[in-house]
Amino acid sequence: MARNTKRVTYKNIVGARLLSANGSLVYCDNCEKVVGSINALGYNLMMLVFCCTCGNYGSIEISRTKARYRSDVRANRMPVVKNRACCCAECGESLLAVMEDRVETYSFFVECKCGAQYDVKPSFNKRLGETLQMFKDSKDKR
Ligand SMILES: [Zn+2]
Ligand SMILES: [Zn+2]
Repeated sequence: MARNTKRVTYKNIVGARLLSANGSLVYCDNCEKVVGSINALGYNLMMLVFCCTCGNYGSIEISRTKARYRSDVRANRMPVVKNRACCCAECGESLLAVMEDRVETYSFFVECKCGAQYDVKPSFNKRLGETLQMFKDSKDKR
């Protein structure tokens, strides 16, 4: 499988931490739990928002292209789930995995390195826009 060698050009991370700069394990910034993982070589654009079971919201946006997450763009397509990881239905690359027992909710929008775009997931029915609003509301309260 071809590696994605494009450099990460944009990164905005709030309430979360990544083990390495471009991906790998995702930690809740509040309780330090691992809540998921991102394949550092899989994406062009990754937008992940989660609410940890500790109540903290985290948001991760990383991009290798000029593309940014736009709330009006919806892929309306779900990735394929293999071994609890969300994988691209086109090229088979793994994209991300979220430990669903460690989060209250999560949403994502991801563009695979092959250009295919995905959002939502069957077991969590909140839209990314709604989750982002909850995220913003939680930050406003502080
Ligand atoms: Zn937490
Ligand atoms: Zn792909």
